[in-house]
Amino acid sequence: MSRVALVTGGSRGIGEAISKALKDAGYAVAATYAGNDEAAAKFTDETGIKTYKWNVADYDESKAGLAQVESDLGPIDVVVANAGITRDAPFHKMTPEQWHQVIDTNLTGVFNTVHPLWPGMRERKFGRVIVISSINGQKGQFAQVNYAATKAGDLGIVKSLAQEGARAGITANAICPGYIGTDMVMAVPEKVRESIIAQIPAGRLGEPEEIARCVVFLASDDSGFINGSTISANGAQFFV
Ligand code: NDP
Repeated sequence: MSRVALVTGGSRGIGEAISKALKDAGYAVAATYAGNDEAAAKFTDETGIKTYKWNVADYDESKAGLAQVESDLGPIDVVVANAGITRDAPFHKMTPEQWHQVIDTNLTGVFNTVHPLWPGMRERKFGRVIVISSINGQKGQFAQVNYAATKAGDLGIVKSLAQEGARAGITANAICPGYIGTDMVMAVPEKVRESIIAQIPAGRLGEPEEIARCVVFLASDDSGFINGSTISANGAQFFV
C-alpha cells in the first residue's frame, strides 16, 4: 500500500510541483486549493491527482476536508503545509486586515492543517510534517512584516513539533525557498523582480521542482533522523 501525502495549495506553483513529485515517488497524493477551480481542474486533468477545496484558515473546514481525504485515500502519513499568500505593504501602510489575512492563512493555516492529523500520526507511530516557510522568514523583508512573521513562526512550529513527535516516529521540518518562479513572484513588478534576481548569487530564480525534490527527501523513511531542521534552497542568496 502506498503512503498517503496531502499537499495544501497543491494545485499551483510550488505545491503543484510537490504534488507531482510525490506522486512520481509512489505516494497516493491529495492536493488542496482555495478557490481557483479552473487551475485545479486543469491540474487534475494533467496529473490524475484529486483536488479538494477548503480554506486552510478555517479549522472546522480543514478538519472536515482532511477527514474526507482520509476516507478516500486512507490515513495521511505525509502532510505538506504549503498554502500561502502575500499582502505586502510597508509597515506604516499595512492594514489590520492585511496583517490578519496573512497570519490566518500562513500561520494559523499550518496549525489547522497539522493539528487534526497529529493524533493519528502519534497512534500509527509515523508521520512527516513538512512546512514551506521562506527565506523572508529567516531574514525579514521590506513591506512583509506580516509575511515574514508567519514564515519565522513556521520555524518555531517545526522545532517544537519535532521535539513532541520524535519518540512517536514523527518528524517535522521546514524548507525555506528563496525566490521561485511562480505566480506569487511573477506578480511582482518586472523591475523589482530584476533587482531581486540581481541579488541572487546563482543569477536566476529557483524552480518549483527544486523545492519539490527537497520535500520528497524529507518525506522518505530515510530522513527519519532529520527532525526540527530547516533546508534553505535559495541559490546562495543568504546563508542560514
Ligand atoms: P502560489 O500563489 O503560486 O500558489 C498558492 C497556493 O496556495 C494555491 O494553490 C492557492 O489556492 C493556495 N492557497 C492560498 N490561500 C489558501 C487558503 N486560504 N486555503 C487553501 N489554499 C490556499 O504560491 P507559491 O507556489 O509561490 O507558494 C507556495 C508556498 O511557498 C507559500 O507558502 C509561499 O509563501 C512559499 N514561498 C514561495 C516563494 C516563491 O518565491 N514563490 C518563496 C518562498 C516561499 P488557489 O489555487 O485556489 O488560489
